[in-house]
Amino acid sequence: MFKKILIANRGEIALRIQRACREMGIQAVVVYSEADRDAKYVKLADEAVCIGPAPSQKSYLHMPAIISAAEVTDAEAIHPGYGFLSENADFAERVEKSGFAFIGPRPESIRLMGDKVSAKDAMVKAGVPTVPGSAGALPDDPKEIIRMGRETGYPVIIKAAGGGGGRGMRVVHSEATLLHSVETTKAEAGAAFNNPAVYMEKFLQNPRHIEIQVLADQHGHAVWLGERDCSMQRRHQKIIEEAPAPGIPRKVLEKIGERCAAACRKINYRGAGTFEFLYENGEFFFIEMNTRVQVEHPVTELVTGIDIVQQQIRIAAGEELPFTQKQITQRGHAIECRINAEDPYKFTPSPGRITVWHPPGGPGVRVDSHAYSNYVVPSNYDSMIGKIIVHADTREQALARMRSALSEMLVEGIQTNIPLHRQLMADAAFMEGGTSIHYLEGWLAARKTLG
Ligand code: ADP
Repeated sequence: MFKKILIANRGEIALRIQRACREMGIQAVVVYSEADRDAKYVKLADEAVCIGPAPSQKSYLHMPAIISAAEVTDAEAIHPGYGFLSENADFAERVEKSGFAFIGPRPESIRLMGDKVSAKDAMVKAGVPTVPGSAGALPDDPKEIIRMGRETGYPVIIKAAGGGGGRGMRVVHSEATLLHSVETTKAEAGAAFNNPAVYMEKFLQNPRHIEIQVLADQHGHAVWLGERDCSMQRRHQKIIEEAPAPGIPRKVLEKIGERCAAACRKINYRGAGTFEFLYENGEFFFIEMNTRVQVEHPVTELVTGIDIVQQQIRIAAGEELPFTQKQITQRGHAIECRINAEDPYKFTPSPGRITVWHPPGGPGVRVDSHAYSNYVVPSNYDSMIGKIIVHADTREQALARMRSALSEMLVEGIQTNIPLHRQLMADAAFMEGGTSIHYLEGWLAARKTLG
């Protein structure tokens, strides 16, 4: 096992990884930008290295600074967390070439899945069902694009091969706007992702977002750890996640889970990963694979009892998975609410000093956050400041537990989306379970008209 790991990230995930290291007796080195100097996990770490000024480009995305921090501290491995460099194949390659273990997949897997066109192609070959649409990137010939639109059937969605984080997508409702939309998305994709390739998918009208968590070791074993329902989204960004997914028959889930594990074996995948699907009318359609730990991993940890971050580290160190598929079970129900520093009505970021921070507690309540009273939320990064995750025997009890946790939680000095979560946890359709990915946007629009 490694003696020392460098954590190339910030915020709650930097603390989460550090906790995993401490339990395993591994020393944790954190890197931080000047804006994160006072963060709790920086003070708690065994060693901390300042890697640059606040802007991510000059710190958390600056590869040479991170690699030299690993060199000077004698770390053996680098955990990239999520976001930042976690899905950057060049970074993974540089980490390995510099003699460190990368706690994540092989660079070629990251590259394969990072291009959504090649990812879909690999899934088709591995027998994983995908959303109908263009086979591969769209050609230049306008006639051919029109033909594909007709064949797919409207509405369609044009997506950037290099897109991510809900960006680089455009819905097209009829042929009249197709070519213009393709051109605009291409131009945007070229500028934002340095890759103008776009592809076409049928735009599903009422799907749910269901994803499968996988773990694969370096000895040919791959398992799936159940599913998560992440349909509560605003602007393609998840805000509430849960496991298991309400109302989907186990047999249907088992079939898709097995396919995902088999796909991992086929592409020689290593580490933790997530297969994201849209689910509509009893069918699964693959949209993308995330080759890293996800924000919502705790709901799976709570229902399976498996520490995903520790497994990532063990896999990177060359250990075999300590369980077989048969030994993995899901017990009870878990729900996660992402706490964002933002206006709960207008969604504008609300950075600044947290004057009061009282997180909830009690049985089955987990709070993953780096925040504390007097902590200053920097304006330079993502607005998520933590997550409340609850676990109970049934979904109904988990909802009650989350309502209770949210009622205890007190944050002053900045605005957060806690009031929004309180309303959603008491919303009839959400409580019923199985709402689609468009539900929250509709709910927000209705709230605006009423309010
Ligand atoms: P990103 O990498 O930017 O997260 P995804 O491909 O995972 O992009 O899509 C993000 C979200 O966009 C999905 O969770 C879903 O809400 C919506 N979406 C993507 N593809 C489709 C589609 N074919 N039909 C309907 N909604 C879609």
